[in-house]
Amino acid sequence: MNDQPPLLRVSGLKKSYGPAEVLKGISFDLKKGETLSLIGPSGSGKSTCLRCLNFLEKPQAGEVLLGTERIGQRPDRKGGWRLMSDTEMAPQRREIGMVFQLFYLWPHLTVRDNVALASIKAAGMRRDEAHALAEEMLEKVHLRHKADAYPEQLSGGQQQRVAIARTLAQKPQLILFDEPTSALDPELVGEVLGVIRELAEEGRSMILVTHEIRFARDVADRVIFMEGGHIVEEGPAAQVINQPRMERTRSFLGQVG
Ligand code: ADP
Ligand code: MG
Repeated sequence: MNDQPPLLRVSGLKKSYGPAEVLKGISFDLKKGETLSLIGPSGSGKSTCLRCLNFLEKPQAGEVLLGTERIGQRPDRKGGWRLMSDTEMAPQRREIGMVFQLFYLWPHLTVRDNVALASIKAAGMRRDEAHALAEEMLEKVHLRHKADAYPEQLSGGQQQRVAIARTLAQKPQLILFDEPTSALDPELVGEVLGVIRELAEEGRSMILVTHEIRFARDVADRVIFMEGGHIVEEGPAAQVINQPRMERTRSFLGQVG
C-alpha cells in the first residue's frame, strides 16, 4: 500500500503576474484518501496554488500529475509540452472538483437543477438520472428536503452545502476547497465544516484552504504552511499546528489562533 504512487503530485509550480512571482516553486504530494490543509497569511499564494492545480491559472513552470495523467499539458512534437485548450482540459477538470468562497448557484434554478445541471450539460447524462444523482448528493449534505427550493430561500450555509453537492455530483477524484466558510456568518460555519468533516472521514481526497486552524488540525491528515509563494513547513496536522518547527509558522499561528 505504501508503495502506491500518490493521487496528486505537484512539482516545481511557478506562477507570476507580470513582475510579481506569486508561486516560487511549490512541490507536494497527496495520497488517495488524504485531506491536506493549506494555511498561510492572506496573499501567500494559496488560491493561486489551487487554481494552478486544475489549470484555471496557467503556471509558467512545473507540473501537476493526477495519477499518471499530466494535467493541462500534452506532449508536443518537439519532445516538450504544450498547454491544452479548455476543450481538451474539460474531462480533466471534472476529475478535480472545486468549491469556492462564494457559491455561484443559479438563482433561477431549483437546488436539484443546480446540482444536476453539469451532469446533463457537461457529462451528457439523462435528465432523470441526473436528478436521481443530484438527490443522492443532496442527501450527503443533508439537504435532500430542499431539492425544490430556490437558492434565495436558503441560508448561506445551506447554499454552500448545495455547492458542495454540485461538486460531488461531478464524481471528482480530488476536491479543492478555497476558504469555503469565509463568506459565511459565524453561526453558519459549523454546518459547512461538518459536511467537510464527513467527506474527510469517508476517505475523499481533498485539499482545503482555510483560516479555521483548529478544524484543520482536527480533520486534515497533513498541513502545509505557505508564505510568500513558498512552502515554509509541511507535516502531520497536529505537529505543524501544535508544535511548528519554523519560527514563521509559530508567529502566524500566534496571530490567528
Ligand atoms: P491567498 O489566497 O493566499 O490570499 P492569492 O493566491 O490570492 O493569495 O494571491 C497571491 C498574490 O498574487 C497576491 O499578492 C495577489 O495580489 C496576487 N494575485 C492573485 N491573483 C492575481 C491576478 N489575477 N493578477 C495579479 N495578481 C494576482
Ligand atoms: Mg485566497
